[in-house]
Amino acid sequence: MNFSIYDTQSREVKPVNVVDRPIHIYCCGPTVYRDAHVGNLRTFLLADLISRTLKLLGQKVILIQNITDVGHMSEDFEEQDKLLSQAKLEKSDPFAIARKYEEKFHADLAHLNIQTADKYPRASETIDGMLSSIQNLIDNESAYVAESGSVYFSAQSFPSYGAISGNRLESLKPGHRYEYSGDGEKRFHADWALWKSAGNRTEMVWESPWGRGFPGWHIECTAMSLDLLAQHIDIHVGGIDLRFPHHENERAQSNSIIGKEAVDLWVHGEHLLFEGRKMSKSANNVVLVADLISQGIDPLALRLALLENRYRSQMDLTWDSLRAANTTLMRWRTAMATWGESQNFLADAEIQTALIEDLDTPRAVLRLRAIEKDLSISPERKREIFNFVDQVFALDLSRKVEVKPLSKEQMDLVQSRANVRADKNWAESDRLRDVLAAEGIAVSDGPQGQSWNWIS
Ligand code: AMP
Ligand code: ZN
Repeated sequence: MNFSIYDTQSREVKPVNVVDRPIHIYCCGPTVYRDAHVGNLRTFLLADLISRTLKLLGQKVILIQNITDVGHMSEDFEEQDKLLSQAKLEKSDPFAIARKYEEKFHADLAHLNIQTADKYPRASETIDGMLSSIQNLIDNESAYVAESGSVYFSAQSFPSYGAISGNRLESLKPGHRYEYSGDGEKRFHADWALWKSAGNRTEMVWESPWGRGFPGWHIECTAMSLDLLAQHIDIHVGGIDLRFPHHENERAQSNSIIGKEAVDLWVHGEHLLFEGRKMSKSANNVVLVADLISQGIDPLALRLALLENRYRSQMDLTWDSLRAANTTLMRWRTAMATWGESQNFLADAEIQTALIEDLDTPRAVLRLRAIEKDLSISPERKREIFNFVDQVFALDLSRKVEVKPLSKEQMDLVQSRANVRADKNWAESDRLRDVLAAEGIAVSDGPQGQSWNWIS
């Protein structure tokens, strides 16, 4: 049984090659100058879903996710290192900023049950690896040293530049903004910096054979992925905005170093919108995991809301959809408790197929909803199927729901309603339903009689 996923470069759904070693996954990590918003987390979840699905098939996985703590320049006119700008703003040391947001990133991942990667290499601690990658590129004439001591990759040295994004060199016009457009010393407008000379910069700078400076953003992913994944990445994951220039440049660098394709499959997650607009700091519509918690929403309800949408479609999240997901999650956990205590897994063929065919999580969720309602499936089997799915969904479905007890008066109201229903006094039953609803208690009538739950 094979797992397949959409590869941006070939523009088709392709199987992951079955190999007699762990599958190598590299996921571009956060730039740790601010909290990760739930859009960023959608992309990090993608790597988790791929890795969990492969593990479900019995496949071992090695996952590497980098921590960008230097060299990621802001896209605005000033082109400042994001870490240094934030350090100035918070009147703090850039490394202290990096460690603070790195820690928060790990806490966010834990809230979403995203499994820990095998390594989280930091850019600032991989400088030697980047220097040797850059030297390698200079030696084979893929890169050149400018007078200032900055080193640039020569885009024209790599004939298949543009294969991932479709942005071929001939169509990249001078003056178009790629990144670092201020460098007049570049030989060709689409070249990019591998190493930047320090100039006036005094913080986060390192010695190099070309003078003091700091690394470009793209070279960090080349150095780390080649080094930590034995020069072969089966699946490379990131948000769709990284397709160009970040991944295009990474591919040119990595392939020029090893002389062959470094990455089998380039997988991109589409953006998360919030109430109609792409979630971003600049759009001022950022939602954090902490915001969910303060609204009484379980962070795993976000995980469920994300699962209800296909990773490669844009998705519009709203507070209403988050609350609806929270209600479903609580209902499933409550139902699980009534379905016995089995810890066994019962595979469901349709759900497994949905997952391995390009991560069709919405189809898997629909199937789970159908199983929940299906009277022909015994409670014990339902529980075992839910256990099985939870290996990938990771919604903690067997977690006990803490239910606040009813007061004596509320219990009496619920009991009175059961009595009037036995007497077929529908008008009084409806009135009591409204009285209970006003107290935040929902009653529903099923084949086993009346049940109640708190309205969340
Ligand atoms: P950054 O911390 O800015 O380097 O971004 C971390 C990851 O989040 C990258 O893979 C981005 O492509 C991704 N990303 C940024 N904005 C969104 C969004 N609104 N929805 C989904 N992914 C995003
Ligand atoms: Zn990257």
